[in-house]
Amino acid sequence: GASLDSVMQGICDCLVAELPVAIVSVLLLDDDNTEFVHEVYSGEFTQSPLAATGRWPVTVGAAGRCVQLGRPHLIRDITTDPDYVPGNATARSEYLVPIRHGRRLHGVLNLESARTDFFGPEACAVFDAVADLVAGAIHFARMADELTEANRKLERLSMRDALTGIANRRQFDASLAEAWARQGRDGAPLALLLADVDYFKALNDSAGHLRGDECLRWLARICERVAAGERDLVARYGGEEFVLLLPGRTPEAAIALGESLRRAVADEALAHPASPLAPHVTISVGVAALVPTAGKSPQDLVAAADRAMYDAKTGGRDRVVWRALA
Ligand code: GH3
Ligand code: MG
Ligand code: MG
Repeated sequence: GASLDSVMQGICDCLVAELPVAIVSVLLLDDDNTEFVHEVYSGEFTQSPLAATGRWPVTVGAAGRCVQLGRPHLIRDITTDPDYVPGNATARSEYLVPIRHGRRLHGVLNLESARTDFFGPEACAVFDAVADLVAGAIHFARMADELTEANRKLERLSMRDALTGIANRRQFDASLAEAWARQGRDGAPLALLLADVDYFKALNDSAGHLRGDECLRWLARICERVAAGERDLVARYGGEEFVLLLPGRTPEAAIALGESLRRAVADEALAHPASPLAPHVTISVGVAALVPTAGKSPQDLVAAADRAMYDAKTGGRDRVVWRALA
């Protein structure tokens, strides 16, 4: 990333400023070591093949040869070297060092001098050490990138329900708080639907737990299809309970959406061999909606939807019930 580039740039600039070298560059390899894909350099540079095409195969040039040799490589007189790719008109000698950390080859450190006698044993030893330094910086930068990516992945995973792949309770809580604040600020409504499978325990007991799991995945997809608005969120609230967070919907619109959901579930008619209601799965839906105000809390909205859902159960199940907030 950017911070690694600035570290490598600093090293290149420092070497060019302090030593009789015309060019210092760091060439980085792709993951399978077939091409150079990135370059940081300092000094008088005419044009490198990498700058021209963005890629430089390791079969080309002295840097490529260094990768193939796998060890430092000194060219005392580049005018006699057929592999030299001209980078600077004054360059006469070149020293190339693999940048290696552990078993991983990251790239090549390339130094070019206008003198033919500059790269003696002491100078070469210093540049070998510089290559190690660069390797360490690259290693830590890549580790940091991988850690950041792993953290992002974990963060995403921690907000997902493993069984259905939809948002989980944690994501729902965060989204509810956010939507509550935004809708309150805009003076706009916020609706909530709680959908609970009827006689789900009986489905598990009669068809097996795996069929129960399948039913939950199936219901999650239907919820997503019905609540497909840009700002709608479908989450698994608990065992066989799903919650639909619907910013911008009035009670009437939310009730209509609940009815669409109930009907979609009934229409798809997933077999339920032990329901006293129907030969297929049905759901009970509780609806609540309000314009968020300071006198109420997100928990009040959830509680109202929960009471509505309970009313739907006691009222006979397979129905949608709306409840005003107390
Ligand atoms: P009601 O009509 O009143 O809603 O009755 P119900 O049987 O659906 O409700 P109850 O709360 O009695 O049972 C819910 C069951 O859901 C109990 C629990 O074992 C089951 N359950 C919870 N999570 C999962 C899950 O991830 N997979 C499966 N297969 N079952 C689950
Ligand atoms: Mg249930
Ligand atoms: Mg339940």
